Amino acid sequence: MTGTTQPPALRSVSGQRLAALVADRTSDSGLARDADVVSRVLPFKVSSYVVDHLIDWDRAADDPMYRLVIPHRDMLDPADYALVAAALDSGDAQALRISADKVRDRLNPHPGDQLTRNVPSDDELDAWGLQHKYAETVLVFPRQGQTCHSYCGYCFRWAQFVDRGDLKLAVPGPQVMTEYLRRHRQVTDVLLTGGDPLVMRTDLLAQYVEPLLTDELDHVRTIRIGTKALSFWPYRVLPGPDGDALLRLLERAVSAGRHVALMLHFSHPRELSTEPVRQALRRLAGTGAVLRAQAPLVRHVNDEPDTWATMWREQVRHGIVPYYMFVERDTGARRYFGVPLARAADVYREAVRQVSGLARTSRGPVMSASPGKVCVDGVAALPSGPAFALRYLQARDADLVGRPFFARFDPLAEWWDELRPYGPADVPFFGRTG
Ligand code: SF4
Repeated sequence: MTGTTQPPALRSVSGQRLAALVADRTSDSGLARDADVVSRVLPFKVSSYVVDHLIDWDRAADDPMYRLVIPHRDMLDPADYALVAAALDSGDAQALRISADKVRDRLNPHPGDQLTRNVPSDDELDAWGLQHKYAETVLVFPRQGQTCHSYCGYCFRWAQFVDRGDLKLAVPGPQVMTEYLRRHRQVTDVLLTGGDPLVMRTDLLAQYVEPLLTDELDHVRTIRIGTKALSFWPYRVLPGPDGDALLRLLERAVSAGRHVALMLHFSHPRELSTEPVRQALRRLAGTGAVLRAQAPLVRHVNDEPDTWATMWREQVRHGIVPYYMFVERDTGARRYFGVPLARAADVYREAVRQVSGLARTSRGPVMSASPGKVCVDGVAALPSGPAFALRYLQARDADLVGRPFFARFDPLAEWWDELRPYGPADVPFFGRTG
């Protein structure tokens, strides 16, 4: 550990500069124009690390990492694209803002009832910036962590990043979290999330972590930190004052008897291939924290079984426990990234059968929907026709967890709200849970 080394300074490209970057790297003015139009609606930002180490510009626009982080015209409905393009060409800033907001509102900015059902409202405390959906777990959105080093085009929290106060969910500081936890001693798990909490300097992050190590909050056993920093800016963890301080903080939490889990977001095996990310993983593992990996299954990026099999193998090789394969959520650019549930189940099955037992720990495909986390176990041949075999891994109604149930098979369905009970016995799994 050197403590004196300085990692490179973070540089990122967004907005109109992103279109210029695409023009420069691809020499394709059409792709650049598309990036300009689409980024007026959905937030995009790319770090210099992603630009220089992860995107294969010779393969743009077909390269999976390009698809992950660069705006593409198919992310918007053609009519919406035309609306925003016309407003942009008019040069009228207000018309552009109105058009962009109109389109955003059509993109379901807060899926899964995040604002209406997950923000706690059961006591005097103003808990805006927390989510408490399942009894044992509270999500904390620190204000300073409501951005990421780059943005995924499929981000289900994209509304956090656009310039709309009404769409942002964040706590101003750790006091709301600590006060809430004092009052809710059934909570065992705290997930610091965002955005990405690792965009915060370590001294800021420590303000949230340290209170969780005190005797007063000793009912909190697990501290999870959700991050994609290892994909987008692994230097965050590499030797240097802030990276070293982060390791010390994680070590303190582990020494205090907390289970510390870094919930790493990896969308494609290429993100695990560079020397900086591998060094970052070794350093994190050395703190005693557990590394887990999750990502959504999305078209254009990772919708082939071999991609997941390779990714899971590489994760295990680098000390990461594969955790979740999610279904792309019903928000933002889903028209571009969405995969039918039937296909998602096939991808999972064909991927999992290729890997050894240690790489079979990823559950999926899983919809993190309003009533709970629903796993699509596959398609079953039942007497009255094919059905999706489903199971709640988590549910607002804990009584439903782990019990198999069925939905009518629909080859095109991509999300929970498109599914219908297969028979009368399945109705409670839909009706009772909203
Ligand atoms: S890392 Fe997560 S929060 Fe950040 S842009 Fe990607 S999906 Fe969104």
